[in-house]
Amino acid sequence: MAINKKNTKGISPYPMRYRLHGGADEIGGNFIEIEYAGKRIFLDMGMPLSLPEEGPFSSHEIECRSTDEIVQAGYLSDLPGLYSGSDDTILGIIISHPHKDHFGFIKRASPRFPIYMGEKTRKIIEATADFIRDYPTFRGNVVRPLVDRQSFEIGPFQITPYASDHSAFDSYSFLITAGGKTLFYSGDLRAHGRKGAYFERLIADLPRGIDHFLLEGTMMSRPKEEMLREVDLASDFTRLLTKKRGLVLVNTSAHNIDRMETIYYSALNAGRTLVMDNYSAYLYRAVNHPFLPGNDNRVRVFFPLKQSINIKKEASFTSKLLPFKDARIFAEEIAANPGKYVMLFRDSMLCDFGDGNRRLMPLKSLRGATHIYSMWNGYWERMDRVKSFLKTHRIPNYAIHCSGHAYKQDLKRLLTATQPKYAVPIHTEKDRRKDFKRIYPSILPVKKGEWQDVF
Ligand SMILES: [Zn+2]
Repeated sequence: MAINKKNTKGISPYPMRYRLHGGADEIGGNFIEIEYAGKRIFLDMGMPLSLPEEGPFSSHEIECRSTDEIVQAGYLSDLPGLYSGSDDTILGIIISHPHKDHFGFIKRASPRFPIYMGEKTRKIIEATADFIRDYPTFRGNVVRPLVDRQSFEIGPFQITPYASDHSAFDSYSFLITAGGKTLFYSGDLRAHGRKGAYFERLIADLPRGIDHFLLEGTMMSRPKEEMLREVDLASDFTRLLTKKRGLVLVNTSAHNIDRMETIYYSALNAGRTLVMDNYSAYLYRAVNHPFLPGNDNRVRVFFPLKQSINIKKEASFTSKLLPFKDARIFAEEIAANPGKYVMLFRDSMLCDFGDGNRRLMPLKSLRGATHIYSMWNGYWERMDRVKSFLKTHRIPNYAIHCSGHAYKQDLKRLLTATQPKYAVPIHTEKDRRKDFKRIYPSILPVKKGEWQDVF
């Protein structure tokens, strides 16, 4: 693909430049400002996943604090025109995918700025907002959908989105051209997911010799993780689901639709029925997924106590209960034959198990049960309540997981094939930049908050 030189003539004597408000020396918090010819756009507005001194970052804690307060606390860059809407040089915000470390601060931006994101990204975020209070909705914004490889212009910037393979659904990378300079932003990507072909297409289609190639390096910090592919996990799941006789609880993220497909196919192979909670089913309905409960009788929907109480409180029967009326499964049906089911499970469902209340799952349903943990190991460290529940009920735990981020060898393949002038590490820890040097000779470290010309 040829690099578009349309916007090169005499607009500005200055090159395109950018600065990283987050994601420079950390995994997560991607928040990039790009400027050319006096106009600016933003790529992602992510929240940090953790803070150097304080540990894991809690989005719930800052929910009720004003934007000024969170700027003063140092969580958010001081960009008053972006938050108030008073800055006419800002033309829009592009969101790469529906993970909070890429969009979490979008609520702080003025609704007067247009937002560009995948149609399903919007649906996932808004459907989640119907269950989780700190998620945004975009009712006050102009939202423009991204389409794979359909270039568009925002002022002097030409932008081409590339659909990418990642653990979040509807993810994109971007090629940005302005003033004859090119910048690539990987967002989060990988080559070993169910959409791994997207990564190979990216290698084939990206222009060679891009000036600045902002590339995520999450896995540089996790060199010991096994290099599994998403499809490899299906055999591990199927083996366990076939071998175990009791109820299987799978602890995973409802947003990881690749993983949910892996669990669904494994359940079919093992002759079990997949039981989603109401929240997961609602997300699947929002993106119109083919194995939607109701369309597919091998998927049933369980209404955990907390979700049922909220439905009653909000009177949201029509949107949350009615679509799953026929697929609904009650605790006694699961308890009558627990070995027939594989059930999505999370810590908010711990209170759903107990005797003496017909709305709870009787404890006998946990006899011979198995727990499968299917997320990043770092989150497991924070799940003391789940660990104690498993210990109390003598439920063994197995880990089946592969990363949502590209392995080092794939990052190397991408850089070697596309030969950018400079690779700029982002979404990686500072001390891992030397690892980037090992995979590509031309590395440009960019510090948080400092303007960097594209040269
Ligand atoms: Zn992500």
